[in-house]
Amino acid sequence: MIAQLKIHDLLDKAVAGERLDPSEGLQLLESNDLSALGRAADEITRRLHPESYRTYNIDRNINYTNICTAVCDFCAFYRSPKSSEGYVLDRKVLLEKIQETVELGGDQILLQGGLHPEFKLEWYEELLQDIKRHFPDVNIHGFSPPEIHHFTKIAKLPLEEVLQRLQAAGLGSLPGGGAEILVDRVRDEITRGKVNSTDWLNVSRVWHRLGGRSSATMMFGHVETLAERIEHLDRLRQLQDETGRFFGVYLLDFSVGAHRNGPGPHGRVVRVFEDPRRIEALLG
Ligand code: SF4
Repeated sequence: MIAQLKIHDLLDKAVAGERLDPSEGLQLLESNDLSALGRAADEITRRLHPESYRTYNIDRNINYTNICTAVCDFCAFYRSPKSSEGYVLDRKVLLEKIQETVELGGDQILLQGGLHPEFKLEWYEELLQDIKRHFPDVNIHGFSPPEIHHFTKIAKLPLEEVLQRLQAAGLGSLPGGGAEILVDRVRDEITRGKVNSTDWLNVSRVWHRLGGRSSATMMFGHVETLAERIEHLDRLRQLQDETGRFFGVYLLDFSVGAHRNGPGPHGRVVRVFEDPRRIEALLG
């Protein structure tokens, strides 16, 4: 009963707009009181977003290659560079997919792929330029932090220069894929050859400093503890405090069996918080 009262005190605090610290967040997560959490979250959302409508955009996921030098235990999408099942999407096919998206009212593509071992930075610049030449009004939400970090290794160039060049070539915003749980104990257990927590955050930080905006993700339900989920959210909140340039957080549910049919790199979206004010509710 006392524990229940404490949970309701914490929820009242959050609804009133006060900031919860990580230990309070953990208490809420451990409470398992989904109804109370849901009611509080709804109240916060309505306070931050009182208008009677919600918005959406139409976009399409395009995975330009499934060839990847990393190994992630949860990913059924990637193929090793030696696999006969590896592909690089033909440019004509890629542009046709965008054309179909535009014809359906879409104005954005989510462009992601595996960590290709050979493509130089120029390949990605030319890809972006080609898309923008054909579809100047389509936003390219492309290249998650693991990809960007990989590009810096292949190009042997500083992160800032890589991001500046991609931005100049037409990159509009960065998707937050590949975050999983931003705690290296967890990452070391489920991924190999992929960006670590600090570097993932740093890609986002430098992109934000260049004036860019990006999203973030959290893939949960595997080897992480509840405290590590809170640590992940807290690290994102700290960066949001610093830059204010995250516009959304996507939560990815790793459920048994889902990985066998993985639709693309970096996970499966189950819930979306996509609004600067709603991210405030989540990370505030
Ligand atoms: S999740 Fe991304 S980095 Fe990991 S194996 Fe799949 S494509 Fe490669």
